[in-house]
Amino acid sequence: MANIKERTFIAIKPDGVQRGLVGDIIKRFEQRGYKLVAMKMVHADTKMLEEHYKDLAGKPFYAGLVKYMNSGPIVAMVWEGLQAVSTGRKLLGATNPLDSAPGTIRGDFCIQTGRNICHGSDAVDSAEREIALWFKKEELVQWDHHSAPWIYE
Ligand code: UDP
Ligand code: MG
Repeated sequence: MANIKERTFIAIKPDGVQRGLVGDIIKRFEQRGYKLVAMKMVHADTKMLEEHYKDLAGKPFYAGLVKYMNSGPIVAMVWEGLQAVSTGRKLLGATNPLDSAPGTIRGDFCIQTGRNICHGSDAVDSAEREIALWFKKEELVQWDHHSAPWIYE
């Protein structure tokens, strides 16, 4: 059966916050029909960011990535709905914004990979890991989306 409870971890990176894009990015997920189940603003420390990006440790851009992510507050969120992980990635656009189609978040709001304004989990298992890293269980809010019957068959 279709899993309308799939969850993904989405973050607005420090450049997205500084550039005043928080509302625009949230709006894309809201208007698509996804349900916000957790959100907080946090200035993450290096240890947290190294854990979040541990799969990329050893890449030439890793140190710069951690520094960029630590350069200011981020907005961390959990969004829920059918295929939230893969559709979330589509809403964000390609990692390199120059390859992101217009109409995607990165394709509309940014230019370079190292300032690509947002993060989205790349698979259901990494989403579960990232959600557990950034949020306590009690921060994931249980609520009924009043539009659900108008979004899902
Ligand atoms: N990144 C970078 N240079 C690269 C590749 C990635 O600065 O050559 C940064 C970029 O901010 C990217 C993040 O590292 O969003 C994580 O990389 P990943 O390949 O996981 O891309 P994403 O999942 O964010 O699209
Ligand atoms: Mg990634």
